[in-house]
Amino acid sequence: MSVRKIGILGGGQLGQMLGLAAIPLDLECVFYDPAPDAPARVAGRHVCAAWDDLDALARFADEVDVVTFEFENVPTKSLAAVAARRAVHPGLRSLELTCDRIREKEFLRDAGVPVQPFAAVSTTADMDLALAAVGTHGVLKTRSLGYDGKGQRVVRSAAELAPAWDALGRAPSIYEAFVPFDREVSVVATRGADGACVVYPVVENLHTQGILFRSIAPAPISDLLAHAAERYARQVLEGLGHIGTLALEMFVADGTIIANEIAPRVHNSGHWTIQGARTSQFENHMRAVAGLPLGDTGAPEPAAMINLIGGLPPLSEILAIPGTNAQFYGKAPRAGRKVGHVNVVAPTRELLAMRLADLEHVARIHNRLA
Ligand code: AMP
Repeated sequence: MSVRKIGILGGGQLGQMLGLAAIPLDLECVFYDPAPDAPARVAGRHVCAAWDDLDALARFADEVDVVTFEFENVPTKSLAAVAARRAVHPGLRSLELTCDRIREKEFLRDAGVPVQPFAAVSTTADMDLALAAVGTHGVLKTRSLGYDGKGQRVVRSAAELAPAWDALGRAPSIYEAFVPFDREVSVVATRGADGACVVYPVVENLHTQGILFRSIAPAPISDLLAHAAERYARQVLEGLGHIGTLALEMFVADGTIIANEIAPRVHNSGHWTIQGARTSQFENHMRAVAGLPLGDTGAPEPAAMINLIGGLPPLSEILAIPGTNAQFYGKAPRAGRKVGHVNVVAPTRELLAMRLADLEHVARIHNRLA
């Protein structure tokens, strides 16, 4: 059956960009999101209903040919209600293995992707075992529902682990070794319905207060490391049997790569692909979900992306910088909230660095993180 109408769970900016990418492919999107002002509502019909409204979810599933998501914390029951009626791509395995940091790390390790030492902390008794397995310099994170650095604490001595766990409300957690990284990188990649995989160039990411601020493509790392990172992304796509786009976030430390986490969906560190790559991560996701052949992930020029967080600079100031394209999401600005991004391309790395410096200056004046 040819796919024409795609249901998307979640209607944030990722949904908005998926919806915009769907239009030239003659695909129609329907978004399910409880927020009346969901940013994706400009790019398709918006079903505004609660996550636990199983009737609304059933009607939504019946209305479309296939379902995907832009938000991975859809409650399990809601997802099951949809999956009972329509194919969901990527499949539930991608969600199940990435919504729990322990299962995610075990999957990565079993798929042959290097990860830092880690241990589960679910009871007070687990703490000594975790310290023995991981060491005294680590990061304690809740197993689920953490994002943008929320739900985690850095631990610098054995005595700090128990108070860190208290601070996380004694939620089931993962304690993992602190990685003294040189850089953070990620790879965005897409697997089609036929199993074909395409991989975007590795990008370097810079976070500010746990929130992605800047991505640069390609990352300034050796070909050896870049090939390893790309290979790991393929191993993840294949190990999950994923259909669609995902991102693998990694650290570069001491000349090696250590995987940190998987985002089972289009990702902020892939926004640069809208102007920077021959086919964007959003278009490739829609192609995969619709069963269409995937597009070229090549990037003709160096490219970068800056997030606009908590405030929007005047467009005239952004667009005065050559090579820029802005995307505002239509969200009310609030400290720490991603309200837009700007992509910038240039024919050389040197020129990109100059344009980026100007852009960062403009963005930082208006960004409000907390
Ligand atoms: P995460 O929620 O796992 O993506 O973590 C958010 C950010 O915290 C990462 O982008 C890193 O900057 C930092 N971080 C997370 N885990 C570690 C770790 N094990 N070692 C060092 N830094 C970390």
